[in-house]
Formats: sequence, structure tokens, C-alpha cells
Amino acid sequence: EQDGDEAREIAKHLPYYPFKGISKFYDIGGFLAKPDIFQEIVDIFVARYSGGGDHAIDSIAGLDARGFVLGPPIALALRVPFIMIRKEGKMPNTISSSEYDTEYGKRSGLTVQRDRIKEGDRVLIIDDLVATGGTLGSAITLVHALGGYVVECACVVELKMFIDPPEGSGLPSRKKLFES
Ligand code: 5GP
Repeated sequence: EQDGDEAREIAKHLPYYPFKGISKFYDIGGFLAKPDIFQEIVDIFVARYSGGGDHAIDSIAGLDARGFVLGPPIALALRVPFIMIRKEGKMPNTISSSEYDTEYGKRSGLTVQRDRIKEGDRVLIIDDLVATGGTLGSAITLVHALGGYVVECACVVELKMFIDPPEGSGLPSRKKLFES
């Protein structure tokens, strides 16, 4: 169900959060309170990455913080390691990405521990939501910097308005980010 009562209940739109000027905040925390839906979400990802071939993965990298909720049950079901991608200053022996742009403005770089990804590893990146793609883009540069290959980036929610925003809207375009 993409836009019915249940979808609205588990992904409420909150205007003006975390501050006024934000288009809409999708609070996807609702599915955590509904084990059947949480399980269904996990099962969809597990089915996609359990078949090998183009979707074969060696590890899952989850983004701080909601990627830490979604990633581990999927990693356990697939019996692959889970890797944390965190904000700076939280873990030892890390490499950092550069500052990046998001829907909310500039963010300082993300970090990953050096020994978690080996040359040629096939890594799946997981987060709850993609808006401008700035956060995922930053995570991709980290995986590449350690010689890993990003199989896919998987999210529960995609904010379509950032795929190719109308000219003059002032919104950053995700299309441009991925083309670059
Ligand atoms: P982006 O970097 O794609 O602009 O923003 C995505 C990141 O910001 C994700 O880590 C996501 O958790 C957070 N984020 C941005 N907008 C929203 C939103 O409306 N709802 C939620 N839950 N997270 C958001």
C-alpha cells in the first residue's frame, strides 16, 4: 500500500519539523511500532539480496541513525556483516568523507572504520529515506575510498520531488548528484 490510511499512519507528514522552511518531514518511525509491517519491510529487502547474481552482497553499511535500525535485521537474515557509517568523532580508526549538502543544508562528513571494507567487497548501503541523495552520495564515496563496490542504495522512502526539481525551485537535484 503506497498512499492509503495505513501508509499515512506509519509515515506521518509533519510540517515544519525539524524547523520551519522544511517542505515536509516524513516520520517513518511508525513502522517500528508495527512488527508485522517492520517484518514485511525486512523481508522485501532480504528477498532482493538473497538471490546472488547482480544483487549478491558481502556486507551492509547502515547510515546513522535510522539505517542502524533497518540494517541489522536484514544483515542477520542474510548472514552478512553490518557496518556502521557514522557522524564524525564517534569511532576510532576511521576515514572521513567531505562536507556535503542535504535537504537541511550543509552537513559535516561521515566516517567508516578502515578495516570494515576490503578491496572488491560488494556493499549494500541502507538508510530510511532519500531526499537530495547528499547523505547516500557521501556514504558511496567512503565505500569507494576503501576499494568497495556499491551494489545498491536501499531506502524505505524516496522523496520524489528531489529527483529533478523544477527550475528556480531552489531544491537541489538528486539526478545531478548521481550523474556527477
Ligand atoms: P538527503 O541527504 O537525501 O537530502 O537526506 C536524507 C537523510 O536525511 C537521511 O539520512 C534521512 O534520515 C534524513 N531525512 C531527510 N528528510 C527526511 C524526512 O523527511 N524524514 C526522515 N525520516 N528523514 C529525513
